[in-house]
Amino acid sequence: MASGEIPGKPEFFPGANPSQNGIAILSSLALVERCAFTTTVPRVENLLPMGTLRNATVHHTGFPEPFLTDEFAATATHLLEIQTLHCDPAGRNWADIGYHYAVDRTGRIWQLRDLLFQGAHVKNHNAHNAGIVVLGNFDLQTPTTQQTTALTALLNFMSDAFHGINVATHQELADTPTSCPGKYLQMFMDQNFRTSNKEFA
Ligand SMILES: [Zn+2]
Repeated sequence: MASGEIPGKPEFFPGANPSQNGIAILSSLALVERCAFTTTVPRVENLLPMGTLRNATVHHTGFPEPFLTDEFAATATHLLEIQTLHCDPAGRNWADIGYHYAVDRTGRIWQLRDLLFQGAHVKNHNAHNAGIVVLGNFDLQTPTTQQTTALTALLNFMSDAFHGINVATHQELADTPTSCPGKYLQMFMDQNFRTSNKEFA
């Protein structure tokens, strides 16, 4: 850590208060700042404050075709497409991309929506809930080892830094049925987090 840098990367994880263990996990994460994929400024006046973070919910992108690129530039373009889909005035017309973080196929963790604000990722369950999207369609493809390793580290860091969070998948929390985050990522979550909205910390 550079001298003078505040532990917990507050620009990435506002409100985080990690232990030494959390700081060690954080240093293992390959974080990519939001400005790497977009220059669009969110319509902050239409966002709600997150408040205390208590939950994290795991999603997949779930596009009709598998997502197979490892390239940085192509991944940035893909995230910009998702942001455009979410913010299109003729479509969903959201104030910003719906999720807070994305995990790409090489294990990079991209900053999407600022964690200071509620996301738009599980209808009626966005308060106090970070949205993490793992890039791919996990009904059609399996997550890479780098993805599941990075996702696990991210969830462990957040649980440490926010003093215990409940981890769930979209389908476990949704009021209306969804296959998100896809059968193969759901299987990973079942095996490694015993989710169903149980605290794992
Ligand atoms: Zn979802």
